[in-house]
Amino acid sequence: MDPSIVKELEAIVGPENVSTSVADTYVFGFDSSIHRHKADVVVMPVRTEEVSDIVKLANRHRIPVVARGGGTGLSGHAVPVKGGIVLSTRRMTKIIDVRVEDLYVRVQPGIINDDLNKVLMKRNFYFPPTPGSGKVATIGGMVANNASGMRAIKYGATRDYVMGMEVVLPTGELAHLGTRTIKNSSGYQLDRLIVGSEGTLGIITEITLRIMPVPGNKALVLAAFDDLRKAGQTISDVIAYPVIPSAMEFMDRTCIDAVISAFNVNFPHSEAIVMIELDGHLAEIADNMEIVEKIASDAGAIEVRSSDDPKEMAEWVAARKAVLPAMSAMPNKASVALADDMSVPISKIPDAVVAFHEIAKKYDIIIATYGHAGDGNLHTKFLLDVNDAKAWKRGEAAVGEVYAVVNSLGGTTSGEHGIAITKAPYMRKERKDTLAAMIAIKKALDPNNIMNPGKLFEWEGLILADLRYPAEVEEDGHPAEGFGEGVE
Ligand SMILES: Cc1cc2nc3c(=O)[nH]c(=O)nc-3n(C[C@H](O)[C@H](O)[C@H](O)COP(=O)(O)OP(=O)(O)OC[C@H]3O[C@@H](n4cnc5c(N)ncnc54)[C@H](O)[C@@H]3O)c2cc1C
Repeated sequence: MDPSIVKELEAIVGPENVSTSVADTYVFGFDSSIHRHKADVVVMPVRTEEVSDIVKLANRHRIPVVARGGGTGLSGHAVPVKGGIVLSTRRMTKIIDVRVEDLYVRVQPGIINDDLNKVLMKRNFYFPPTPGSGKVATIGGMVANNASGMRAIKYGATRDYVMGMEVVLPTGELAHLGTRTIKNSSGYQLDRLIVGSEGTLGIITEITLRIMPVPGNKALVLAAFDDLRKAGQTISDVIAYPVIPSAMEFMDRTCIDAVISAFNVNFPHSEAIVMIELDGHLAEIADNMEIVEKIASDAGAIEVRSSDDPKEMAEWVAARKAVLPAMSAMPNKASVALADDMSVPISKIPDAVVAFHEIAKKYDIIIATYGHAGDGNLHTKFLLDVNDAKAWKRGEAAVGEVYAVVNSLGGTTSGEHGIAITKAPYMRKERKDTLAAMIAIKKALDPNNIMNPGKLFEWEGLILADLRYPAEVEEDGHPAEGFGEGVE
């Protein structure tokens, strides 16, 4: 990067908040995906005006700008694939205004989800989307990705709580979108356009979020099955009854075995577990618990356990959350986010999981499936030897088949993690009749293509590109030059 540009950035935010050090440009080149690419410079503004000045400078010089929150994106969202400026919101963590009487909170984008909820809970309110990454993920990153989590079945996704926002557009101009009112029918809902835009249309500098009262009581039902289809039947029957649980989580045998073996969790050895969380008034919970237990037994559960003991429920939830670290403990394998976040219509979950198992067998890889079954959102983790270029190629071929199944079942490429790089080719295929509209919107707002370039519909390369692992994989499955030599 031209040193004069670094000097200008230092003049905007102070030299202590600009870094071109090898360590910073390297570390800020990663997120939680399989990808990485070195940044040219990392800059940490604290005020909207600073963000605007940085973006104006970048736009003048046609330098890419990639917003970065907690870096927990799983598809390469915050990876600066074209180099340029990584704009970290690490210092933009202010809660500007808590207005429980108006049901909203105004925040800067860098506040972490769980930190915000700690403050809101003191007033008996909260922001309901609960990603597994809530200890690290920022509200800006959640809005830019339309993140959600296990409670979306009853409480929706981030999109459902965004009332308004302030955005620095790619030209550096400020725009105020949406409102601070519960209702708003005043023209185009442009705040919704920014939700899920993955940092490609502007930098969010302030967000007004709707908040909700904390639900009172909770109980959990845990049902284990010797057959995936019986688990699927339970999920569909609970919803059709209708009982709308606050969460309904699913784990297949690979996940169950992994958490039992890594953490000695007291879960039944089985083909599938469905964990159903009920919330509300005590009498309502008791009624629904009985209904859910009967549905699971009628569907053929081999074991049904229920609990309203906070300690026991916390242990079960912790065990479900331990799936990812448990898989990382498997010898000679790493869990990688390839096709990690599809959604299918709720009743199609068993078809999807059975098909994923068949694809895994065909390509001699392990695909572990778990997720937020109550809303049809599955997570698959591919377990690979990351030093084996052929295993990567088999994984890549399996991804194509996984998404073909998802599409044939009426599903979508991503339910909550977003697209960025790893899922770009499949999103392009799925959304082919609206791609032109997306491209036109991007061109209108970002004529010089500086905002997180190369992502979403713009990513035309292979999904096994810019790998964070010391393996670059060639077309024929053999290691490319530099394989095994370590990263830059
Ligand atoms: C262990 C683990 C568990 C997870 N569980 C869930 C889950 O349950 N549900 C779920 O939905 N996701 C989950 N995720 C994915 C991830 O946490 C979410 O996508 C989250 O919203 C990313 O937030 P972040 O602050 O880390 O954003 P980053 O990764 O830093 O960035 C994500 C995207 O947002 C953009 N962005 C960030 N800040 C701004 C801003 N101020 N303005 C404009 N664009 C911005 C970036 O440019 C990038 O494109 C999980 C990830 C991990 C690693």
